Amino acid sequence: MNAPRLSVSDRISRLVPYQPGKPMDDVKRELGLTGEIVKLASNENPLGPSPEAMAALREVLPQLALYPDGGSHALRNAVAEKLDVPADWLLFGNGSDEVIHLLGLTFLTPGDEIVVGDPTFSLYESAATLAGARTVKVPLTRSDFAHDCQKMAAAVTDKTRLVFVANPHNPTGSVIDRAGVQLLLDALPERAFLVLDEAYVEYIDESDSDFPFALEYIQAGAPVISLRTFSKMFGLAGLRVGFGIARPEVISLLNQARSPFNVNLAAQVAAAAAIFDDGWVNAGRLNNRAGLAQLAFGAETLGLTTVPSRANFLLIDTGRPCQAMFQALLRRGVIVRAFGSLPTMLRVTVGT
Ligand code: PMP
Repeated sequence: MNAPRLSVSDRISRLVPYQPGKPMDDVKRELGLTGEIVKLASNENPLGPSPEAMAALREVLPQLALYPDGGSHALRNAVAEKLDVPADWLLFGNGSDEVIHLLGLTFLTPGDEIVVGDPTFSLYESAATLAGARTVKVPLTRSDFAHDCQKMAAAVTDKTRLVFVANPHNPTGSVIDRAGVQLLLDALPERAFLVLDEAYVEYIDESDSDFPFALEYIQAGAPVISLRTFSKMFGLAGLRVGFGIARPEVISLLNQARSPFNVNLAAQVAAAAAIFDDGWVNAGRLNNRAGLAQLAFGAETLGLTTVPSRANFLLIDTGRPCQAMFQALLRRGVIVRAFGSLPTMLRVTVGT
């Protein structure tokens, strides 16, 4: 019997599946390794989950037969208190990945455009493709692998609905400054938003007065949406929980598009505890600062150049096609990340 012909919309057939870092068990099996595997490929917290989160999780186990609170109220109130924002400025998702997809579903229709750096975190383009919108890619600067805000601003048109900037950026660790944010805001047409993806913002000191924290812009009424996650500094990537911060009218639209129980009970409880775990954030920052310096020093000693990073990973230019070094590291049980778009570079997450 012939297999049935499946027909799908080209929004699906044009999607490029996300390439995650290689799982540790796959590397062990494929290479027959028996020793310790060190995964430095997915920007996870090498110190593990927030201890406060783990304690809260143990308490919640007997309640797992119940559906979670669809509105994530306790988590919402916890984050609202910690960040000093109204609770209705927050929307929680199954990872910030889901919030990115909700942005596409809510704000993009066929014919619309998003503007992104190139390369950048690939989910922005997926969200646009799924919505039938076009992704306009603006190459990073050649000199320092940072967003070229001037060229991005020039790429904004009447069709632009969303401009995505990860700040700090993945995979480069670069940041855009206040002048960069202003260039992008000034270029936006009416109804468009600048999405500042702050997945790595906890690695920046709150006292850094030069850093353009998205919340300040939202509070000032600018068309900015912030994305945050519990997957990085808080060490909860396995539970999948992230959130968006925006003006309440934006949040209420995104809420209409989300599924009723999108954040699971364990994730809600753990995240509500983790957000207050300042000790964990401080320990994570200290480990990260030392680790970045160690990696940069090691690379320099080998004669390799690096891209200055404000996040929890370092982009290292190996000066030649990086696949040989990637494979050699794998054979030693060290998993890093290579990108087709940056053929000589390896991205190495800070470990312990
Ligand atoms: N944004 C950026 C820039 C990221 O690097 C990541 C994780 N790789 C995410 C969003 C998604 O994080 P999560 O879905 O785990 O919250």
